[in-house]
Amino acid sequence: MARTYFVNANLLDGENPIKPASAITIEGNRIVSITNGPVAPAPGDQVIDCGQRTLMPGMVSGHFHPTYRNVGNSLMPPLGMERAPAMHAYVAAYHAGIAIQSGVTSVVGANSPFDIDPSLRDAILEGLIVGPRVVPGSRDLITTADSNDTTPWYWDSNVLAGVRLCDGPKEFRKAVRDEIRRGAEIVKLFATGGHGIRLSGTTMSMTKAELSAAVEAAHGLGMRARAHVASKAGIMRCIEAGVDVLDHGDGMDEECVQAIAEVGAILIPSLHGPYHMIKTLRAMRREGDDNTELDRKVEQRVDAMRRMCEMLPAAVEAGVCICLGDDYGSDVLPHGMYGDEPALYIEHASIPTLEVLRWATVNGGVLVGLSDLGRIEEGYLADLVVVDGDPSTDITVLGSTEGICAVMRDGELLINNL
Ligand SMILES: [Zn+2]
Repeated sequence: MARTYFVNANLLDGENPIKPASAITIEGNRIVSITNGPVAPAPGDQVIDCGQRTLMPGMVSGHFHPTYRNVGNSLMPPLGMERAPAMHAYVAAYHAGIAIQSGVTSVVGANSPFDIDPSLRDAILEGLIVGPRVVPGSRDLITTADSNDTTPWYWDSNVLAGVRLCDGPKEFRKAVRDEIRRGAEIVKLFATGGHGIRLSGTTMSMTKAELSAAVEAAHGLGMRARAHVASKAGIMRCIEAGVDVLDHGDGMDEECVQAIAEVGAILIPSLHGPYHMIKTLRAMRREGDDNTELDRKVEQRVDAMRRMCEMLPAAVEAGVCICLGDDYGSDVLPHGMYGDEPALYIEHASIPTLEVLRWATVNGGVLVGLSDLGRIEEGYLADLVVVDGDPSTDITVLGSTEGICAVMRDGELLINNL
C-alpha cells in the first residue's frame, strides 16, 4: 500500500512540547510510525516536506451548528425556519468546507434542522463534498414556553425544522428515540435558560424526571446526550441525570467542578460567543442615549464570563475534560473563526497554551468518541494539520486559514499548499 510521509516537521503530538525534525508515516488512514531519523519512501509513496512547519493533530470543534448563518436577533427563531431545507444543506456543505480550511477535521453537532447533520456526514463520507468527520446532532429538544418557544404558531405548521417540543418523560423518550432513528448520535436538550437565550440561567426548563428519561433513552440506544445548561443548579441536575456533555456551564463553581470531574462529563465552556457579543453590545453604545439597559446586558455577560474564566483553571486541575466549540454562525460569531478561539482561553482564563491545544485535539478525540483520535501517535487515525508557525509559542497562527498549509482527514490529503 502506498504511504504518505510528512518529513522535516516540528511535531506537536497533542500532549508534549514541540519535537523538531520529526517524520511520520501514514498508511491507509493510520499513523504507522513516528521517527526523528530519515525515512525510506518506496516508488509511488508521497513525501510532504513540512519545511520545519508545525505538524499537529486535526482540531475538533465540539459544538457545531452547520446550518447557522447570521442566527441571532436579526433572525429570530423558530430555528431552522430561516430558509428552505435545500438551502440549509448548501449552507452546511459550505461551512463544512470552511472547517477543513481552518484545520478542523472533526465536528460534533449541537443542533441542525431537517436531519441535516446525518446527511452532511454521509455526503462527506461518500466524497460528494469536502468536510470534517461529523458526529451528527439532533434538533433542540425543548419544553413548552422555553426560550426557543418564541413563535407558538410554528407548532401549527407541522414542519419539523430545528426545534421540537416535549413535555414530560414520555415525550422526551419518544423524541430522543425519533431523533436517533433519524440519524442523530448525540441529542441536544435544553436544561436551563441563560447563556444568551431569552430566559435566564435560573430557569429550570426541564425537570429531573425529563432529563433522566431523555438521557436514559439516548444511552439505551448507545448514543449520548448533551445539554444547554447555564446555572449551578442546572449543572448539578444534569450531572445527576447522566448528561454526557455540558454546553456552556455558566454558573459553574467548585462543587460543580468536583461533580463534573467525578462522573467524567465533558465541558464545553464556549466563551467565544459571549466574548464577541460583549464587544458587539459595547459598540452599540451611543453617547447621549439612555444606555442603561445596554450597560446592564453588558455587565451581566462580563460577570458570567469572568466567573467562568476564574473557574476554568480549577476545572483543568480537577481533570475535567474540556473541549473547544461554540455557536459559530450566530450573528456575532461567523463560521471560520474557530482558530481564534484557543487564544481567548489563554488570554482571559490563564490556561497554558499546551493545555488549550489539548482541548482542541486530545480532548476532542474523547468528545468525538474515538479512542484513537486526537493525538499523533502510532496506530492513531491520520487527522493532521500542517501550520505555518508554532502554535505552542504563538497561538494566533491558528487564526488565519492562510497559516493552515495542509490538512489530512482519515488519511486523505484534503488540502496541500506545501
Ligand atoms: Zn449552540
